[in-house]
Amino acid sequence: MKIELLEEKIAQLKKRPGASGGTLDRIENWLKGSHVLQRLRINPYYVAGDLVKNVKRITAEFLHGVKAGVFDLHWDIHCPHCNMIADEFKDLADTSEMSFCPMCEREFKIDLLDRVEVTFSLNKEIEDPQLRPVCSPPPVLQNKLQLMTPLYCTESEIVSLEKGRYRYCCPLTLAKGILKVEGAATESVQEIKLKQLAGKNFDKKELVVRPGKVKIELTNTEHNLSGLILHSDELPDELTLEQLPLRLSGIQLLHYPDYKRLFGDRVISERERVKIRAITIMFTDITGSTRMYETLGDTKAYNIVRDHFEIFFESIENFGGKVIKTIGDAVMASFISNEQAIQAPRLLWLVSGSTTQPDNKQSGFKLELAFTEVRLCW
Ligand SMILES: [Zn+2]
Repeated sequence: MKIELLEEKIAQLKKRPGASGGTLDRIENWLKGSHVLQRLRINPYYVAGDLVKNVKRITAEFLHGVKAGVFDLHWDIHCPHCNMIADEFKDLADTSEMSFCPMCEREFKIDLLDRVEVTFSLNKEIEDPQLRPVCSPPPVLQNKLQLMTPLYCTESEIVSLEKGRYRYCCPLTLAKGILKVEGAATESVQEIKLKQLAGKNFDKKELVVRPGKVKIELTNTEHNLSGLILHSDELPDELTLEQLPLRLSGIQLLHYPDYKRLFGDRVISERERVKIRAITIMFTDITGSTRMYETLGDTKAYNIVRDHFEIFFESIENFGGKVIKTIGDAVMASFISNEQAIQAPRLLWLVSGSTTQPDNKQSGFKLELAFTEVRLCW
């Protein structure tokens, strides 16, 4: 990482009107204290640490950094079974419906909520490690071992293994194999020696040991960096969001106002439909608007509707929603949760008391919103 260049770029980002200097300091400190593997794909939740409420602000600064060429934005596609990064979209327009995990050798449907994670990395001008992005297996897979072996090195570790079937793999080189632990338990330490070959293979694809202690050794003479993860091969059909570390989902990012402001022109490919499992769509309408136009006249009624849009749009944004479109005086917006969708118009009631209400009172007219919310699955 070119530290001086990074410092210079961060200093430039701080000059943006409205930039949060404290947040940029936090990002800079995190980057300087992180390992290169963590920087391959930066999860804003990791930068936020315990302060999860700061994620939105951190993401906003990353997004401005992407626009300024300091960071790159990634749409990582995670395998629903082993969680490894199977692929990525360079842009929303590149979305596809299906993906394939080379570790599980299974095809799966892409879902913007639980399979697409948005991450950042430093622009190649600042750091170009030339490594494939990796992510650790979630705790539910009972990760037994994690080795990292630089070029021309040998690393080893001893693990205790119970009967079962395990998968050993390197997410950097995509090498993999199966370890069977069977038979009677043994007291002595058994040894496994693996070699990372050029390309995507280890020298052994299947190994058998007895239950007990096993010393696993990995030698790497071919790649800049190789590694080994060992976890149970009994993988769940679908890892749920609760089983995964906190992360910024694709659908969450689409609802961030800063994303819309900076990258609003990027749309999902129309050729291929990426799946969005659950999203709340809210429709609102002004009750009796025709009568309002008749009673108040076009200009006054139009001003009320315009005021209502202004307040309502801000409220939708504050509650993490996204305005999809307006139809006459009706609003269609999407939210990640039902709760947020219900709260957004509530705020409008509070705010409208001091803005649109006086106009209405004069004519004895009450602005009322009818709203429905629908949970869509497709
Ligand atoms: Zn997989």
